[in-house]
Amino acid sequence: MVLVFADHSESEIRKSSYEALSYGAALAEKLGTTAEALVVGTVKDDLSGLGNYGISKVHQLANENFNQLDTQVYGAAIADAAASLNADVIVFSHNQTGKAVAPRVAARLKAGLVSGAVALPDTSNGFVVKKNVFSGKAFAHVSIKSTVKVISLNPNSFPVVKKEGQAVVEQLTINVNAAKVKVESVNKVKGEVPLTEAEVVVSAGRGLKGPENWKIVEDLAHALHAATACSRPVADAGWRPHHEHVGQTGIQIAPNLYIAIGISGAIQHLAGVNRSKTIVVINKDPESPFFKAADYGIVGDAFEVVPKLTEEIKKIKG
Ligand SMILES: Cc1cc2nc3c(=O)[nH]c(=O)nc-3n(C[C@H](O)[C@H](O)[C@H](O)COP(=O)(O)OP(=O)(O)OC[C@H]3O[C@@H](n4cnc5c(N)ncnc54)[C@H](O)[C@@H]3O)c2cc1C
Repeated sequence: MVLVFADHSESEIRKSSYEALSYGAALAEKLGTTAEALVVGTVKDDLSGLGNYGISKVHQLANENFNQLDTQVYGAAIADAAASLNADVIVFSHNQTGKAVAPRVAARLKAGLVSGAVALPDTSNGFVVKKNVFSGKAFAHVSIKSTVKVISLNPNSFPVVKKEGQAVVEQLTINVNAAKVKVESVNKVKGEVPLTEAEVVVSAGRGLKGPENWKIVEDLAHALHAATACSRPVADAGWRPHHEHVGQTGIQIAPNLYIAIGISGAIQHLAGVNRSKTIVVINKDPESPFFKAADYGIVGDAFEVVPKLTEEIKKIKG
């Protein structure tokens, strides 16, 4: 059985979890088995609806110890649940939670782990999983040899596949030791669209000259229902908050569309964005290295190009 960890935020199943559920369902079909989901904590969504993503059964661990993410508690609970359910493959999204919890689960189950998978495993000769390496500059094909296998799926690398279905929902009781640390409070950033899950990201760099000029970036992001991001010097200078900083030392993202405005395209910046499906670069310097990584480029002054682009997008979107 393939067990998918369905992660949630503010009581709603995350978009990246729907990708993991669809991936788990496709993998189960390939292996000739069923896909089931594990939900830790309480959610608003009707869990039987996960059947629409190919899930036959949802196991819920609704226990007060699980209301806040504690990676040690989650790791122990998910590993125990997976063992008691006889899961052969456990799938996570490679988001913040998955990055922290999947290795703990794998260690507890003595399972091989591939983190950051980008495709379904090749099962023609063993169990070989494709993943990104070197900040997305190359792929590795990793063979998992253990009986139980753990995979975390890179966000935006597998489509959400909807089908008709209803899942059976069952409560699961797992006793775990109390957490060794207590999360006192969580201050969530209230953005319009969370950066790591955004399909479209509008990002800007030092070419914008100062924080007072970000309105043109925000207007374009708003027109596209996109998240905003920035280069590191912009965050370091305090023009934009650090949680918007993308790159090698910032957040790594893989949206469907990444629009880079006034960013030179240094290798450390590209390391965080080069898995984007389509990259559009707006830069006044035709020699800017970012154009080499771009699918589309506009050589021009951001202060002229961006407002025009926003106007045209607004017209198209009505
Ligand atoms: C260890 C290390 C880690 C790093 N990690 C990161 C990271 O995670 N993320 C990151 O972003 N950087 C990182 N950096 C910094 C990185 O090397 C670059 O210095 C940085 O990305 C440059 O930011 P920028 O492109 O905004 O600025 P600049 O390099 O100053 O480029 C500004 C660009 O704007 C263009 N421009 C200027 N005016 C206009 C205009 N009016 N219209 C259009 N275009 C205009 C210019 O042609 C230029 O290409 C790291 C560096 C090191 C050493």
